[in-house]
Amino acid sequence: MPRGQYHVTSPRLHHSRYSLTDSSDASPEDEEADPPMRFTALQKLTTDMCKDEKTIKDLIIGRRVGFYKVRGEIGYGTFSRVKLGFHALTKDKVALKILDRTKLDIQAQRLLSREITSMESVQHPNVLRLYEVVETPSRLFLVLEYAGGGDLHNRICNEGKLSDNTSKVTFAQVLSAIKYLHNNGIIHRDLKAENVLFTSSGCVKVADFGFSTRVSNRNDALDTFCGSPPYAAPELFRDESYLGPPVDVWAMGVLLFFMVTGTMPFRADTMGKLRHCIIEGSYTIPPWVPGPCQRLIKGILKQAPSDRYAVDQMLGCDWLLHVEFPWSLVSQEPDNSMQSLLDSERELEDEEEQEEVRNALEELGFTQGHLRNNSLKDSRNPVTGVYRILLHQTQKRRGCDSLPVVRGMVRDPKREGLRAYRGLRHTSKFCVLS
Ligand code: AMP
Repeated sequence: MPRGQYHVTSPRLHHSRYSLTDSSDASPEDEEADPPMRFTALQKLTTDMCKDEKTIKDLIIGRRVGFYKVRGEIGYGTFSRVKLGFHALTKDKVALKILDRTKLDIQAQRLLSREITSMESVQHPNVLRLYEVVETPSRLFLVLEYAGGGDLHNRICNEGKLSDNTSKVTFAQVLSAIKYLHNNGIIHRDLKAENVLFTSSGCVKVADFGFSTRVSNRNDALDTFCGSPPYAAPELFRDESYLGPPVDVWAMGVLLFFMVTGTMPFRADTMGKLRHCIIEGSYTIPPWVPGPCQRLIKGILKQAPSDRYAVDQMLGCDWLLHVEFPWSLVSQEPDNSMQSLLDSERELEDEEEQEEVRNALEELGFTQGHLRNNSLKDSRNPVTGVYRILLHQTQKRRGCDSLPVVRGMVRDPKREGLRAYRGLRHTSKFCVLS
């Protein structure tokens, strides 16, 4: 019998080790009543998980974990393997980031816990979602939104630089995600093309929050070197401490350069030379990069963090003037009447979304008792997983993952072929500055 995290409390499925906390008190009459004629999907699943031989075997050999069916490998990280998964009830595809708990040292555990805390506290169309965390004695599974369109690094290495329009649409989504994160006190600290994923419909998802940190104030000084050296801001090599937002902004400048040219602005064969190159700030933008984009890159890649563009300046730049978002950029500016109107519309939409999700949960067999007794904020709870997946489904139906469009622009002329950049994927580092 597999060791599961769910305990037996369901009145009808008292034989089950896999059931969810339901507060509906079972009276003795209920206990003796005939079993229901038709099981709900949830009842069938929890019964199978403790009675059906094949399901039990799948749980033992790792072809299932919690409510997820585990399928083929889709990627590797420094501490993890990533596999495709399917939710057994909702049938949604997910990415399962699998970590071997026995191999996580104290620092890796700390990074992992930051990754979970950052991801569970945010919800934005361009930030990869964390649906659930499943723990077994030896492993930890982060159940993530599936991004089937690959990552930006591979895309550029395989297909060459992005067209001007595609760069705008992609960059604007990264910018929107970073604005949202900074407004919510989260600094990513590992922005790079490898961490910009795409859904199969091309929506950008900023991923990998292992190096992220929370600041209570934008001016909080940080002192840990995080991220990938080619994307590191000069102050990370130069100073004993640094401010979070400008470091993410610098990395966005490197990312933008990479998107529009297919090459990296700062390149060197050794770490020492790379450091020198970044501190010198010596880079050359090819002359064919459109003027407004050149100006944006120059405004971002400024040596002094205080001279560097802020996120709002980037949003208002000429190059992004024609980009129209299908949803409003998250704004936490002081209240004004327009903002209050948008807020009340949003509240109404939220209520409608909640109603849809509640109905979908009920259809699967979740009762009011399940919802009352399981905190939907606890990522280590299977009810939270289903709830977050259904909520995202609802939001996607309402267009939350639609792409921005570039208005009134002609398509780019012939796309350029492959550029010379064929570097290895950039690995990220973590150390305290001294
Ligand atoms: P990571 O450990 O986050 O660096 O992920 C390693 C690799 O797994 C990435 O480079 C992606 O190719 C793949 N991957 C990670 N997360 C996802 C996801 N949510 N959807 C699809 N592929 C992913």
